[in-house]
Parts: sequence; structure tokens; C-alpha cells
Amino acid sequence: MITSFHPPQRTLMGPGPSDVNPRILEAMSRPTIGHLDPLFVQMMDEMKSLLQYAFQTKNELTIPVSAPGSAGMETCFVNLVEAGDTVIICQNGVFGARMKENVERCGATAIMVEDDWGRACDPAKLEAALKANPAATTVAFVHAETSTGATTDVKAMCDLAHAHGCLTIVDAVTSLGGTELRVDAWGVDAIYSGTQKCLSCTPGLSPVSFSEASVERIKNRKTKVQSWFLDLNLVMGYWGKGAKRAYHHTAPVNALYALHESLVMLQDEGLENAWARHAKHHNALKAGLEALGLTFVVPEDERLPQLNAVTIPEGVDDAEVRGILLNDYNLEIGAGLGVMGGNVWRIGLMGYACRKDNVLKCVSALDEALNRVGAPVSQGKAVAAALASYNNS
Ligand SMILES: *Cc1c(COP(=O)(O)O)cnc(C)c1O
Repeated sequence: MITSFHPPQRTLMGPGPSDVNPRILEAMSRPTIGHLDPLFVQMMDEMKSLLQYAFQTKNELTIPVSAPGSAGMETCFVNLVEAGDTVIICQNGVFGARMKENVERCGATAIMVEDDWGRACDPAKLEAALKANPAATTVAFVHAETSTGATTDVKAMCDLAHAHGCLTIVDAVTSLGGTELRVDAWGVDAIYSGTQKCLSCTPGLSPVSFSEASVERIKNRKTKVQSWFLDLNLVMGYWGKGAKRAYHHTAPVNALYALHESLVMLQDEGLENAWARHAKHHNALKAGLEALGLTFVVPEDERLPQLNAVTIPEGVDDAEVRGILLNDYNLEIGAGLGVMGGNVWRIGLMGYACRKDNVLKCVSALDEALNRVGAPVSQGKAVAAALASYNNS
């Protein structure tokens, strides 16, 4: 007989999902009501305002797509790109490659601008690509590359794109709620995020936002969006302001309660405070990891606080150490992704997981695990170093 599934209580310090605040899990268990119930519709309106705050935008079309971050990505591309278009993609990690897949599946041409993994996207390279490809209509890049832990200067990239008549698509799956992000001030035209990273909500939804210029483009497409489910012309009828809500698909009612709760918590904490909290705990984690002798993949000024990629010491077995953390400490950290597989660990400090007790647990567990497997690291200094960072901040 198969019985109920009871997962263990883990501490999630990988690249996502991150620990979900119990308050959010509680919100999710509230009674399911109809998705066209007037009270639910009221909640959807609040959700839009809360998302506008989180994204720092006045964009009317600011909604959660009813599917994970990858669907938010697909929503941006299938709506803004048409067959025959040229799209410039600046790639500095795994997620840029997915953008290329999206563009090509739209029947468009992707011009790839490659940057080193572990570095920010270089605006100078984008500028050269824009000059070389005057037909380009769109520029896409990742704000917070979760595969490496590098951040990119969104405003500099958007300014260049606009100077060459392009709209911008930005992946903010890992940045939203964890690090400074200002959609309007930075000139982002289309942005997608996820609920399971720094919002610390359950996985499965993708907040997106579209500028007026991108809504214009979507309304004036020559061809229909090839995805019926993600066609914003249809979705707008469901989420649109004032418009009588038309049934498009059944909203994931309880998942939306969860997102609403997580955004209320973000509002209560204050965005700037949330960003500052991620920075503070990152500094303590960094002090601990460096005291162990571990080194960061990304140069300091291009580093994300919420995703800490460190090089695995020579001769240390990646899976063995992560296994010790998981089995002995119920602690999950992330493996390397793509070409970095086996070479790096990715330690997330996202949302609710971004706390002092987790930082101290992580550095002490790594200290013990690395010394147990005979890694060439120093023993017994990591926790003190992390604590010293807290005491100095
Ligand atoms: C996690 C992630 C995604 C994909 O989100 P899912 O919810 O897993 O579909 C996309 N881009 C980046 C940068 C991510 O970190």
C-alpha cells in the first residue's frame, strides 16, 4: 500500500527552491474558493500592486504566470518575438542558453554575445553586437545568473538596447526580492521571475511585467502568438484592469494565496531592507567560506549575495560532501550546473533561508564535512569568522 508522502524538514541553501516560510505554507492551506469569486478577484488586484512594488514598476501588465520561471521566460519570448526577427542574447551562464532555445523556437535568429561564465555581461560587447546587427529588435540577458552567481548591470544594458531601438527581456528569477532591481528606473521592457528563489514561496509561479512599449508590440503582432496558453493578448482578458474577467484557465488558487502572502511579507519588511539583509548574511557566509580556504568563482564587484559559487578544493568529491551535508545535517547546497558541474558548489542565501542561524549552520557543517573527507582546508575557524562579520556589521 502506498501511503502519504512526508518529506523531511531540510534547510534549503541551494539555487532554489529556497526554504518556504511556514506563514506561506499556512496561507496555502486556506480554503479554496472559485477563481472568479469576487473576493478572489480582489485578491488578484492586490497581487498586482504587490508585484508592482516588488518589481518597482508602474507597468499595468504585471502578473504571475501560472507556471514556474521557465514559463515566464517563454511568455516573454513568444509574445515579443516573431518569426524572422533578430534577437541579441548576452550569455554568461546556463540560463542564456535557454533564451537562445526560446528565440529559435519562435523562428527568429539569435545573435549570441558570449561572456565568460562567472562574470557579468559586458555592455561594450552588447554595443558592438547592436552596431553589427541593426535589424535586431530585442536584447535579452540574465540579471542574476544562478549558474555562476554573477550579476549584470541591467540599466547599462537597457540604455544601450534602447539607443539602438531594441526592447529588453530580462531574467530576474533569482534577483527579485534578493538584490536591487528597478524595472522602471532601469528601463526593462519585459521581465520574468520565479516564486521559489528570493521570494521564498512555493515553486510553480512566475511573476512577469511588461512595459507599455512591449504591450504595444504584443498588440501589433503580425502573427498570432504560437502558444495559446501563454498568449498575453488572451491572458490580459483574465488579469486586465477593470475588464470583466474572462475565463482563460483555472488560476492556481492556493498557490496564489501563497504568493500573495510572500509579497505581503516583502512589503512589510521593505524591499531595501530585504536587499540589505541578503547583503549582510552574504558577508558573513563569505567570511566563513574564506576562513575555510574556499574561493569564490565571481569577482567581488560582480557577485550576487544570494548565490555564492565557490570552487571545490582539489581532490574533493563533490557528491560525497553534499551527501554528508544532506544526510547528517539535512542541509542542501547546490551542485555546479553545465560546464561548472563537479567544479563548484552553489550556496544559496535566498529569502527565508537567508538567516544567521543558516549561515552558521552551513559554515560549521562544511567545516566538519570537508575535514572528514580530508580536504585541504583549515579547521575550526569558519564559524568564528562568520560571527566576526556579524559583530562588525
Ligand atoms: C531557476 C531559474 C530559472 C528557471 O525557473 P524555474 O522556476 O525552475 O522554471 C530561470 N532563470 C534563472 C536565472 C533561474 O535561476
